Amino acid sequence: MNGTLLVIEDNEQNFYMMRFLLEKHGFTIIGAENGRLGIEMALRHKPRAILLDIQLPEMDGYAVAAELKKHDELADIPIIAVTSYAMVGDREQILTAGATGYIEKPINPETFVDEIIHYLPDKERGEIR
Ligand code: MN
Repeated sequence: MNGTLLVIEDNEQNFYMMRFLLEKHGFTIIGAENGRLGIEMALRHKPRAILLDIQLPEMDGYAVAAELKKHDELADIPIIAVTSYAMVGDREQILTAGATGYIEKPINPETFVDEIIHYLPDKERGEIR
C-alpha cells in the first residue's frame, strides 16, 4: 500500500488518466469533482497528497488551496496543482495560495507518476520504489 491520493478534478478524462497511471503504480485514488467536495474528502481521509486542478467550477483551485491550508490537520499534506496555465504569474499565484508544486497539463504519461512522487516527503519516497 503506497497510500491514498486525493484528486480534485472536474474533467472526467483527465481524472481517469491520472487515476489509471497512479493506480498502476500502487496508489489508491479517491476523487472529487469540485472544490467543496474535495475539501470535505481531504478532512475525512487525510490523503498522502492532494492533486488539485486549477480550473474548477464555482470554487477555483486557488481558493481550494487557500481553504485547505486553513486546516492545521492538513498542513503537512502536499498540494500539487495540475494546471494548463503556463504563465509564470499563475505558477507564483498557486504556490502563494499554498500549493507545494505544480504539474502542467497535458499530462505526460511517461513522467507523471515520477513528478507526483517528487513532491511527496523525502522519507516516504523510498517506500514507493
Ligand atoms: Mn478543470
